[in-house]
Amino acid sequence: MTISLDTIVNLSKRRGFVFQSSEIYGGLRSAYDYGPLGVELLRNVKNEWWRSMVQLRGDIVGLDSAILQARDVWVASGHEASFTDPLVQCSNCNSRFRLDKLDDQDLCPSCGNRKTFGEPRQFNLMFKTFMGPVDDETGLVYLRPETAQGIFINYDNVRRAARKKLPFGIAQMGKSFRNEITPGQFVFRTREFEQMEMEFFCRPEEAGRWYEHWTKDRYQWYLDLGMSEDNLRIRPHGHDELAHYAAACSDVEYRYPWGWDELEGIANRTDFDLKAHSEHSGTDLSYYDDETDERFYPYVIEPAAGATRTTFAFLMDAYHEEEVRGEQRVVLKIHPKLAPFKVAVLPLSKKPELVGEAEKVADLLRPHFLIDFDVTQSIGRRYRRQDEIGTPYAVTFDFDSLEDRAVTVRDRDTMEQDRIPVENLVRYLAERLP
Ligand code: ATP
Repeated sequence: MTISLDTIVNLSKRRGFVFQSSEIYGGLRSAYDYGPLGVELLRNVKNEWWRSMVQLRGDIVGLDSAILQARDVWVASGHEASFTDPLVQCSNCNSRFRLDKLDDQDLCPSCGNRKTFGEPRQFNLMFKTFMGPVDDETGLVYLRPETAQGIFINYDNVRRAARKKLPFGIAQMGKSFRNEITPGQFVFRTREFEQMEMEFFCRPEEAGRWYEHWTKDRYQWYLDLGMSEDNLRIRPHGHDELAHYAAACSDVEYRYPWGWDELEGIANRTDFDLKAHSEHSGTDLSYYDDETDERFYPYVIEPAAGATRTTFAFLMDAYHEEEVRGEQRVVLKIHPKLAPFKVAVLPLSKKPELVGEAEKVADLLRPHFLIDFDVTQSIGRRYRRQDEIGTPYAVTFDFDSLEDRAVTVRDRDTMEQDRIPVENLVRYLAERLP
């Protein structure tokens, strides 16, 4: 089904997934705050990425490098000179646009006038700030526009400390900042966002094979977490699209309400980065292979995903509207691993004896799962509310429960109900929740 962006924006605000940053001051465009449910969803996405990259493999280790790095890092990487997008300004309404993202490069999308753009200017996307008490060029530093460079400059530290031999990878998740010319489509393109990047170092002759491997692996990750195959595709870049350092690149794309667009890029970055940092820093980052007695610069395969963008895509993909017995139901069919709450505990009525006993059931579950506890309104409405936020199981404590010490467990997707003794509840849920 096709859903509108507004539907997701409304749900996000109403239920506490994502709020506009600085909303009470009129909102800061292109920055967002993640609410109680959003923070769980985002964290679950990042945890799943980390688990697949680091925990389930023996050849990738983690890193958390600083957002602020020496200015030289960005000189060496080429960002200071060329991390730019072509900017055009309309001479009629003064709106600014990123030229390569315009459907019609002669038409101003804001005022509708034709041929109003001047020559494009290269606009650098890095945010500047100053370190120390003096606001001048000597203290100039950038907020990192990607996490990758933090990995390259730590390549040798990590290789030595973790005693890694090729091939091996370094994974990192964290905030990145880009002063995007045209942010928009909710959290799809923002100026502050989170990335999940992994740099996989290998012998040059094996780079092609690892590039194929990571392209397939990353596509499969989205499918394994329940993303619909119809909304996901791999798009290899044409030669004219490749960055100057890349030998090959493919995007994993998602079918957003506005069409196919990027979720993640997988690139063969060759030996560009390690060579560039060796030359600029004077520290030799080449690799000595003691088995073959060779010295060379490793090639790098990079799967680079956006954590916030991916969270948004999972949210959109999971959103369903269905008709159940003549009534409309909104249900987030999100993978249980990603669902913010795993279980909701719902006392059938507000009677204190029920609420008190239901609280005990919630306490029993809390060490194992993130629980929501809801006593307000009819049970039907509470089920709908849990469906809308994607809670896989709802446990209802009713008057019979006081006698038989059993509860009703309702499955979000099938809406089927099972009566389960409280003493078996943790096991029952653990078997169903991955
Ligand atoms: P684009 O061409 O759309 O500007 P990019 O190709 O420059 O993006 P990369 O540098 O490959 O993007 O970044 C890797 C990933 O980081 C992207 O696939 C995306 O998921 C995420 N990302 C990049 N820029 C943003 C942004 N402004 N807001 C949210 N996520 C972003």
